[in-house]
Amino acid sequence: KIILEIKGLEAKIVATGQQILNGVNLTIREGEVHAIMGKNGSGKSTLSKVLVGHPDYEVVSGSASFKGTDLFALSPEERSHAGLFLSFQTPIEVPGVSNVDFLRMACNARRKKLEQPELDPLEFYAYVMPKLELLNMEPTFLNRNVNEGFSGGEKKRNEILQLAVLEADMSILDEIDSGLDIDALRDVAKAVNALKREDSGVLMVTHYKRLLDYIRPDFVHIMQSGEIIKTGDMGLVDQLEATGYASLETVDV
Ligand code: ADP
Ligand code: MG
Ligand code: MG
Repeated sequence: KIILEIKGLEAKIVATGQQILNGVNLTIREGEVHAIMGKNGSGKSTLSKVLVGHPDYEVVSGSASFKGTDLFALSPEERSHAGLFLSFQTPIEVPGVSNVDFLRMACNARRKKLEQPELDPLEFYAYVMPKLELLNMEPTFLNRNVNEGFSGGEKKRNEILQLAVLEADMSILDEIDSGLDIDALRDVAKAVNALKREDSGVLMVTHYKRLLDYIRPDFVHIMQSGEIIKTGDMGLVDQLEATGYASLETVDV
């Protein structure tokens, strides 16, 4: 069953009018892990942000269907409540809001959408503790303000904790490996693997094979100039490591 189907997606930057996505086609089915690689500036983060409805970008043409509904007809908030999750390359700080309150709020918004009863603070603790454990995170983490004074690694773990709490149907993970030391990378990867479900999909943006060695993708896509120019499996990553992007580049005509 298809979770996310992107067809001919073109999108531009609102502020400058510059078109960044030039016809992206991508289909993700239940249970699949997809990786997108590509040079800096090829449009990977733009694709991620367009999918969640970031206001800096505007869809020019094409479509995206998420679990059978028109994704672009939903507000960013509705997309999130419907089960689409994006980790940010630069997570935001939310001063004055404790992490546990923030997580419970996000969790309950999603549960409401799923017509499940909201969790009170105690129930939420019981729900979140095993997830903290999975990520090797201290319980004191919950009482700190969202991302305030978090190290790079803590911010990343916190994002995956958000992912764990939301039980998203489709997770877009944009460079979750950047700035992680080996232990944190292993914890994060372990959590992503543990959170995978037979009916959920994962889209990972990364520059590095080491992440894909932990979270094995079913498909690897190469993005260039706002298009997916090649799709393969882990073999494609090996080819990239050996010869670089030049060996894959297509010539614009
Ligand atoms: P990638 O994630 O593949 O490195 P991005 O999607 O972040 O690439 O960026 C693609 C291109 O679009 C880059 O040239 C980048 O500078 C430009 N770009 C992306 N977002 C913005 C923005 N909000 N304002 C101006 N330029 C942007
Ligand atoms: Mg980049
Ligand atoms: Mg990027």
